[in-house]
Amino acid sequence: MARITLNKSNFFHNLDIIKAQTQSVEKIALVLKDNAYGHGLLEMATLAQEYGITKAVVRSNAEAQTIEEFFEYILVLADIPKVPSKKIRYTINDAQSIKEFPKGTLVELKVNTDMNRNGVSIKELNTSIELIEKRGLSLEAIFTHFSCADELNGNYERQYENFSKIKQNVPKGLRFHSCNSAALFREESFDEDIVRVGIAAYGCLEMPSSFKKHGLKPILALYANKISSRQISKGDCVGYGATFECKENQVVSNYDFGYGDGFLRANSNTYKTPEAIQIAGRISMDNSSFLSDEDELLIFNDAREVAPYAKTISYEVLTSLKANIKREII
Ligand SMILES: *Cc1c(COP(=O)(O)O)cnc(C)c1O
Repeated sequence: MARITLNKSNFFHNLDIIKAQTQSVEKIALVLKDNAYGHGLLEMATLAQEYGITKAVVRSNAEAQTIEEFFEYILVLADIPKVPSKKIRYTINDAQSIKEFPKGTLVELKVNTDMNRNGVSIKELNTSIELIEKRGLSLEAIFTHFSCADELNGNYERQYENFSKIKQNVPKGLRFHSCNSAALFREESFDEDIVRVGIAAYGCLEMPSSFKKHGLKPILALYANKISSRQISKGDCVGYGATFECKENQVVSNYDFGYGDGFLRANSNTYKTPEAIQIAGRISMDNSSFLSDEDELLIFNDAREVAPYAKTISYEVLTSLKANIKREII
């Protein structure tokens, strides 16, 4: 089985940089959804608590309950509880769902400022707030999400404007948050109550080159073990479909990491490791072959470098990693 290492000092380094942006550790809500972007939910919750992070964001109730003891505040993005919690806040993603939350639930209202994915419309905002009160739910915050925080096409500015107006027109005493990682690093100064930071904490934030360099470092590395090794002659082919033909006599070894573990099959044939070791042929379910003889091979230590091979983003490279791969904090 492959293994994952999590570099604690890089994680803390990233949190230092994020904290310098927010000016307060209390404002950092670490996004731990999807097994902490593939890093391991409990591992990252443990490290976050050690650093002093008190807030977390997850997708489901089950995730929230798993990490309940680690944080003072947990925001669930898309789930409905059976009973209210003192610690876990729930997102209202549309006006129709308000009636489904049990009385006494702590809720945060998502508003659609033009991403058109989740959230009540700006027009529905006031009636939604009234309905939340009428149903006996406890509204703590209004928040939104940007579609283009890492792009330069004018959409970010439009959503920013929309949310600024909302802040002025809702009842006092509510908290506000809108920023993901890219939005946090896009702005010179941060003046909201919370940032929902995911990819920056994991060190894989990518921004257009016109933004200032952030100095974040990836924390996850993946290693695979050799299952077997063989000498291959010029003209021999390796793997399913015989898509890789050896150009010379060489050693090909097979490693215990395949698409069943989360190594995207689109990386087949072209991928090169950080040590420039060439993949040989197609990735299979539990195996991939490389032109190497090493017993343990570093497959990657920066998901951003893998992503282009599979025509995807680091988020997908990371969240594809299966939960049963051993994770080790170093
Ligand atoms: C996943 C998510 C985030 C975190 O985004 P990053 O780009 O990883 O920082 C923030 N807010 C919401 C609503 C999300 O779904």
